[in-house]
Amino acid sequence: MTDSPNPTDGLMSGTALAASILANAADRSAELERRTGVRPCLVAVLVGADPASVTYVRMKRRRSAKAGLESRVVELPDDTTTEQLVAELETISADPTVHGILLQHPVPSQIDERAAFEAIAPAKDVDGVTMQSFGAMSFGEPGFDSCTPGGILRLLEHYDVPLQGARAVVVGRSAILGKPVGMLLLERHATVTYCHSRTVDLPGIVAQADVVVAAVGRPSFIRGEWIKPGAVVVDAGYNEGNVGDVDFEGARQRASLITPVPGGVGPMTIAVLIEQTVTAAYRLTGQE
Ligand code: NAP
Repeated sequence: MTDSPNPTDGLMSGTALAASILANAADRSAELERRTGVRPCLVAVLVGADPASVTYVRMKRRRSAKAGLESRVVELPDDTTTEQLVAELETISADPTVHGILLQHPVPSQIDERAAFEAIAPAKDVDGVTMQSFGAMSFGEPGFDSCTPGGILRLLEHYDVPLQGARAVVVGRSAILGKPVGMLLLERHATVTYCHSRTVDLPGIVAQADVVVAAVGRPSFIRGEWIKPGAVVVDAGYNEGNVGDVDFEGARQRASLITPVPGGVGPMTIAVLIEQTVTAAYRLTGQE
């Protein structure tokens, strides 16, 4: 690891850690190519032209190229049906030159997103969105983590946050973020509580947490005064205007460590995606 935790400023920098993960992925990618002639290849599938999705795919492509990966984009029209998308994902899954597949989401509303995710071969599910990946992650078996949750755990580990026996509160239970991050915390022996829109007394539950993960999608929703002094706060939220789901200034007064937005969880997601694509390429070429 090139950078080291810096507990004095109280910030967990995803930018610094992601850079070291990407540098390592680039080395591993080059090593695989030297050994086998195979360059890890990530295919992003983009349905429609939602501006945020277009930007995310462009960022992922740029980072992949920087790490020496081959990166392709398959663009499908806005009126693509579930059947057409499933067929496309099955074709890409069967292509031996592809090692990682990313379906940029959300997809247009006429598409059954779950059916589309399940068309991705688990061996190439480097975004960790299939039920098989979720099951493997929950059982601590080999597979691919959901990228944002995987990135959050890497941050917590890098900053030596004790998880065993810690009370962790996850606010949000989406299939790609809240639920899997809770499962990963549970695997690390935290005592995990999930909160959601029907939770009663959210402030009281957050106030008991040693580790808070905010994954709500509402700007500055978690108030600083809810945070237990000394708690660790991870803000996975990303709302318009570069605002997280946590009232950063308020929470920073009380937290021992906190992720900034931007520069916290965000960069970790892409780093884990690329790292997992390189790992998939090693496995698919029989090198690991
Ligand atoms: P989502 O699918 O909309 O889920 C939001 C969750 O928050 C739901 O479980 C919902 O509860 C819960 N919630 C909503 N209102 C609540 C309330 N008043 N009290 C308590 N819980 C409430 O969102 P998501 O996809 O998980 O994303 C969450 C945030 O993370 C967003 O800001 C998104 O932009 C960000 N994100 C960032 C990255 C990254 O790379 N950094 C990746 C993915 C997402 P119910 O289940 O009861 O509806």
